[in-house]
Amino acid sequence: MAADRQARAEATIPPAARMNLPTASGRRLGVLLRRALALRCPYCGGAPAFAGWWTVRERCPNCNVKFEREEGYFLGAYAINLIVAEILGVGAVIALLLWSDLSTVAMQIIAVAFVIGLPLFFFPYSRSLWMAIDLMIHRPSESPRR
Ligand SMILES: [Zn+2]
Repeated sequence: MAADRQARAEATIPPAARMNLPTASGRRLGVLLRRALALRCPYCGGAPAFAGWWTVRERCPNCNVKFEREEGYFLGAYAINLIVAEILGVGAVIALLLWSDLSTVAMQIIAVAFVIGLPLFFFPYSRSLWMAIDLMIHRPSESPRR
């Protein structure tokens, strides 16, 4: 019993019965994106992947998968967050320039607040989207590392 619990604690791949992902790519992508936007475990969807706004759980409470598979795993999430902040920040500036009568200083204040605030808001979503993208590309059965 204790050995069974130990083996389960060391497992990084959820048992197939607990991993609830469609095999068809289209459905799988939809399920993964829904789970990412809900900040749920990408593997099973059965539990929140985050303990707080800034903290990814070490393991899923439901399927026991280890979220941060290796050191530096979430580097891709930082890239996603940066790209989204840049695109939306530039979009906000263009929208302000085209459709507002605000002064230049007011537009700069809004743009700076937007560019600082958006990455903070988007932080957990960038991580959950990164996990979903990674799981879409590297399916657990294809990688012995998990
Ligand atoms: Zn899970």
